[in-house]
Amino acid sequence: MRRPVIAGNWKLNKTIGESLDLVRSLKPLVAEVTEVEIVVAPVYTALAAVAAELADSGIRLAAQNCYPEPSGAFTGEVSPALLKDAGCSHCIVGHSERRQLFGETDAFINAKTTSLLRAGLQVIFCIGETLEERESGQMFDVLSTQVREGLKDLTAQQMNNLIVAYEPVWAIGTGKTASNEQAEEAHAFIRGLLQGCFDQETAATTRILYGGSVKPDNVDGLMAQDDIDGTLVGGASLKAEDFARIVKFG
Ligand code: 13P
Repeated sequence: MRRPVIAGNWKLNKTIGESLDLVRSLKPLVAEVTEVEIVVAPVYTALAAVAAELADSGIRLAAQNCYPEPSGAFTGEVSPALLKDAGCSHCIVGHSERRQLFGETDAFINAKTTSLLRAGLQVIFCIGETLEERESGQMFDVLSTQVREGLKDLTAQQMNNLIVAYEPVWAIGTGKTASNEQAEEAHAFIRGLLQGCFDQETAATTRILYGGSVKPDNVDGLMAQDDIDGTLVGGASLKAEDFARIVKFG
C-alpha cells in the first residue's frame, strides 16, 4: 500500500509573512486528514518561519532545491544539512525549471539526490518530457535516461526515502493537464523502469506523483489511476482552499 503524497511547490512566490498566512489558512482545512502525506515547499527565506508554524501540524516541509556539497566556498548555495537545520524533511530535485532555466544535468541531479539521502532527507525527484520530445516519439527514451542517470548508484534501501514526480513540461503552468490515460501510461512506464533499475519490491513501493496543472477539478480523475500516488502542485498550491481540496481528493 503506497501512502498518497500531495505536495505544493510554491516556486518563487510569497514573502515570509505571506507564507505564514498561507499555512495558517491551510492547517485547519486539512487538520482531519491523516491518510495523506502533505508537503509544502516555500522559498528558502521562508523555510525556518514556516517550519515553526507547522510544528503543531502533520504538514511536512520541503525545500525546492539544494547544493550537493556539505559546506565550503560555494557562494549562494544551501546544503542538505542546512535544509534539515531549517526544519525541512523533504527536498525537490530535478524540477524541469531547474533543468531548463539553470542547465541542471542528470549527473548534477544525481549528486544532489545522493547528498540529500545521506543527510537523511526525503527526495522528491522530478522527471518529464517536453512537448517536442513527446511529439517526436522520444518520451520513453527521455524518461528512461532521466531515471537511469538521476538515480545512478542508489541502493534499493535508499529508494525508501525517494518519491518520483512525473511532470510533463508541456503541462506545467499551461493549464494543459495530461489526460488521465497519458499520465497513467507514463507512470506505469516509470514503475517498470524502477523495476529494471532496482527490483520488483522497489517498483511496487515507490510513490510516483503527477505534476502539471493539477487543480481541484482534475485531481480526482488523476488520483483514480493505478500508478498515480499523489500530485506535485504548482499554481493551485498557492491558495489554501484549492490546495486543501486537492489534498482531499477522491
Ligand atoms: P503547475 O501546477 O502550476 O502547472 O506547476 C506544476 C509544477 O511545476 C509543480 O512542481
